[in-house]
Amino acid sequence: MRAPRRVSVFGATGSIGQNTLDLIARDPEAYEVVALTGAGNVAQLAADAIRLGADVAVTADETRLDELRGALAGSGVEAAAGEAALIEAADRPADWIMSAIVGAAGLAPGLRALRHGTTLALANKESLVTAGPILLAEAVAHGARILPVDSEHSAVFQALVGEEIAAVERIIITASGGGLRDWPIEALASATPEDAGAHPNWDMGQRITIDSASMFNKAMELIETKEFFGVGPDRIEAVVHPQSIVHALVGFTDGALMAHLGAPDMRHAIGYALHYPDRRDLPVARIDLAQIATLEFRAPCDTRYPALRIARAVMETGGISGAIFNAAKEVALDGFLAGRLGFMDMSTIVEESLDAMSSQTSLSIAPKTLEDVMQTDHMARQAAWSQIERRQNAQ
Ligand code: NDP
Repeated sequence: MRAPRRVSVFGATGSIGQNTLDLIARDPEAYEVVALTGAGNVAQLAADAIRLGADVAVTADETRLDELRGALAGSGVEAAAGEAALIEAADRPADWIMSAIVGAAGLAPGLRALRHGTTLALANKESLVTAGPILLAEAVAHGARILPVDSEHSAVFQALVGEEIAAVERIIITASGGGLRDWPIEALASATPEDAGAHPNWDMGQRITIDSASMFNKAMELIETKEFFGVGPDRIEAVVHPQSIVHALVGFTDGALMAHLGAPDMRHAIGYALHYPDRRDLPVARIDLAQIATLEFRAPCDTRYPALRIARAVMETGGISGAIFNAAKEVALDGFLAGRLGFMDMSTIVEESLDAMSSQTSLSIAPKTLEDVMQTDHMARQAAWSQIERRQNAQ
């Protein structure tokens, strides 16, 4: 019998984390759970850590340590809290680590885990967008492997098995178009967080669902595609596909187009990364093509989705522009959720933040360290909040 694989899940209490634990819990003999991490949802974190017999449970929120300790009392699971504890958890030997913390906070633990030559299943989009070259270089330096978990990148990765990247002519990632897909363009300015937070196909957290409606999510994925697969921006496209059945397509130099189809269930991509290079049974719905009958595709409209146009500029510029883009879009989303910005203002704020930062520094200079990235992130957040304030004062 094979020894159990040591696994850790960062962001275990979130949507990706819970789907990951669902797969792990189905085969408890096969895994030894090392670390589970969360932030505010301490009760869930403790319950999962006890249920799965984790060595340690970490909340990112230092003020919740006592609560976590109390919830774990008598279980034998260690409790820890704070950013340093997240890094310490990433230092604990593991064969496979899920990186599913949301936001820029996911970068540091993932980067640290790579130092130990582990396999990093990467769901955290911000890592590649803000620090792609740093992350990939760290993986190479330590013989670590990064496996994409975003469904589009997992689909591309799977379509590329046995292929040469030099034979790739184009990569096409699909977008559902989000909850406002069929709204008239003129109405988008008045969309509320509730309107944008309802996804037609995927069941995800509120922030990523709104990012789907604005296409900031797809914009991030375009940048991730460039970073992870190392292909030029001119060979990466997004196409609107309302059914979310085809996740991505890879076009080769002989004209062949390989598509990856699957039900919209993140356990597909998570399971592929968990069992890679094997394929195992996964508890996901099987597709009945005759029942689906029609698969539609249409070109995304830049007026409806300015985020895609901005992403193209970011891919062309490279350097720190990805980190600025990510930070500004997070702030813009906070502004939208707080009722300080309209839905269409989010892309304006991101563009204005990139412009404001470009007047202070050259955006194409690549960050060399995590500190460079975090400093850019900090400055870009300040720039974005200033743009929001300026806009509100002008009204
Ligand atoms: P969720 O918001 O559902 O979960 C986020 C996780 O991160 C939770 O465990 C949360 O803890 C934890 N967390 C929040 N803030 C911090 C912090 N400051 N420091 C450490 N941990 C923190 O997000 P998702 O699972 O939806 O997404 C996770 C990542 O995966 C994101 O980068 C997202 O873009 C990406 N992704 C998500 C997909 C999806 O289908 N959901 C698809 C592809 C990629 P707690 O809940 O306890 O507060």
